[in-house]
Amino acid sequence: MSRTVTLIPGDGIGPSITDATVRLLDAARANITWDRQLAGAAAVAAVNDPIPEATLDSIRRTKIALKGPLETAVGKGFRSINVALRQTFDLYANIRPAKTVLTGLKFSDVDIVLVRENTEGLYIGIENYVKIGDDPHAAAQSMAVVTRFGADRIIRYAFEYAKAHGRKKVTLVHKANILKYSQGLFLETGRMIAQEYADTVTCEEKIVDACAMELVMRPERFDVIVTTNLFGDILSDLTSGLVGGLGLTPGANIGKGAAIFEAVHGTAPDIAGRGIANPTAVMLAACQMLDHMGEGALSQRIKTAIEQTLLERKTVTGDVGGTATTDQFTDAVIARLGRG
Ligand code: NAD
Repeated sequence: MSRTVTLIPGDGIGPSITDATVRLLDAARANITWDRQLAGAAAVAAVNDPIPEATLDSIRRTKIALKGPLETAVGKGFRSINVALRQTFDLYANIRPAKTVLTGLKFSDVDIVLVRENTEGLYIGIENYVKIGDDPHAAAQSMAVVTRFGADRIIRYAFEYAKAHGRKKVTLVHKANILKYSQGLFLETGRMIAQEYADTVTCEEKIVDACAMELVMRPERFDVIVTTNLFGDILSDLTSGLVGGLGLTPGANIGKGAAIFEAVHGTAPDIAGRGIANPTAVMLAACQMLDHMGEGALSQRIKTAIEQTLLERKTVTGDVGGTATTDQFTDAVIARLGRG
């Protein structure tokens, strides 16, 4: 039976890499009906609304979306649509795996799953300026909110993920030495949950700055990482760098009632419109989506075709050392699929 998925092409390189992904899934006979919807700058241009109600309605109906990156103006304009989507559908768990596929990199055996809290922390959007004298922007403040409920469900998600995927260790990443309340509550909650899983999963604690250093020195030491929103956002770009860059790493945003799959990277304005973006991250996000839909075998088949194409390095995009266009890489993956 065909399953309907909301497709949001997104901005910048988004339309080209989501088109490539749809082409790959169609070639793999994924039996998906795509409900195309707008969001981001494309939606502002078309209907003057960054998240049209039709898009939200579609996700409410399908409960699953594949999304290209969306542009967010820095320091002005509308709030991040990504953050708004995650909050609207309470997509509290952001799962960002980074696994070495390419050879010849500094590290050959990175296999990290970063589990990022996706709805709280410094990203709740409570910010304001403070006027002093004549200066309306004399000071600015942003509030970080961590709740026991939010910390509990994301840390539990990380331990359950570790158990279900045969992983041995969860690293609890925090800054409780300085932010004693918000980060302290996250750590305290983590320590309690870790005890429940002590038989099957080891837990270690790391302060975020030391964790960042260790990730670039000895990344093979890490297995599952769980952390708060901002740290997860930053560290997942770092783990992407360990395996060859942002063109390669996907992310799932999971809630109880809906899930949105996307790349870790953004709209890549520096290469948009040139047909040279690497579509691997969105393709792997589509594989996460297939896993989520119970299509594990199909997901594995597609993943293998992507990995073999990358490993062969004959037809890969510029970010990973090749000269292929987005379309040429996609054709090569589809050809592999046929041979597999
Ligand atoms: P970016 O991730 O778009 O780009 C960083 C660098 O990585 C650039 O040099 C880019 O060319 C390269 N890159 C990224 N994806 C690539 C790909 N698939 N193939 C080849 N190279 C790739 O980060 P940025 O420039 O800081 O952000 C641009 C915009 O994207 C901003 O508006 C930001 O808010 C938005 N953004 C959106 C999301 C999202 O929708 N989930 C995530 C991050 C950033």
